[in-house]
Amino acid sequence: MKKVSVIGAGTMGAGIAQVSALAGYAVVLYDVADDVLAQSLDGIRASIDKGVARGKTEAAVAETAKDAIQLTTSLETAAQADLIIEAAPEKLELKREIFATLDAAAPQETILSSNTSSLSISAIAGATKRADRVVGVHFFNPAHIMQLVEIIRGDFTSDETVAAVQGYVAQVGKTAVLCKDTPAFIVNRVARPFYGEAFRLLGENATDPATLDKLMRSIGFRMGPFELVDLIGCDVNLAVTQSVYDAYFQEPKYRPHPIQKRLVESGRLGRKTGHGFYDYDK
Ligand code: NAD
Repeated sequence: MKKVSVIGAGTMGAGIAQVSALAGYAVVLYDVADDVLAQSLDGIRASIDKGVARGKTEAAVAETAKDAIQLTTSLETAAQADLIIEAAPEKLELKREIFATLDAAAPQETILSSNTSSLSISAIAGATKRADRVVGVHFFNPAHIMQLVEIIRGDFTSDETVAAVQGYVAQVGKTAVLCKDTPAFIVNRVARPFYGEAFRLLGENATDPATLDKLMRSIGFRMGPFELVDLIGCDVNLAVTQSVYDAYFQEPKYRPHPIQKRLVESGRLGRKTGHGFYDYDK
């Protein structure tokens, strides 16, 4: 594989484009608007420069990586790649639409993958005529720092496809864990109570976000639940919770909390909008 396209230039797409470019791939970054792409590229370049300043990236590698990222608002252009990693919003119908378009436009051997946190890879693959070449490649946030990547084998994913994305994950210097196509896979499934119980405690006025976050850090967690939701994006966290809840036919233990919904409806999406449980504009 030489060329990787990333669909969606938000939090995750930007990070995936960055690690792919730094690993030597030619990268095409797609989003729906030029200003979103320009802002994303600025962020990627700043993040690469930070890596150089901290001595983690060689200056020459950084310059090559910055030049390796091409921007586009055409899905057909983005479809011309060896591996496509979709990181669009966590909505099944939207992802299925994107995959159907990519399937029609991409060369036959191109692998189509999704960075979905919770949705079924088999359901996404059902929108294409190449279910054997559809797979989940789930990076964690921030993608340029987090070591783990879940590779999700859909019901019809071929061994060759899994092996090819294992090669890609190794090339970007990450550690892959192979998962089955089950709602939220491994990490996000295990993490559901971490968020769910925190929201319930907040809803019962048992504590406030800063106290609970500090408490969780004091026992060894890198971040508390509310800090983490702000980092992930309150909208993304709600979409994942809702998707797991629905996938288990409204299983009460996965039910989203009204506090989450209210935050999203009020536009407080966390770090990316400057406000969530905490304020980031100061
Ligand atoms: P985000 O909101 O930061 O970015 C989404 C991007 O998709 C935006 O740039 C938006 O303009 C773009 N977009 C909107 N409509 C689109 C379309 N029709 N086609 C292509 N792009 C479109 O979201 P994110 O946090 O980067 O999440 C993206 C995916 O990655 C989701 O599936 C999410 O579940 C998953 N994910 C998120 C995290 C996290 O911590 N945020 C971690 C792992 C996986």
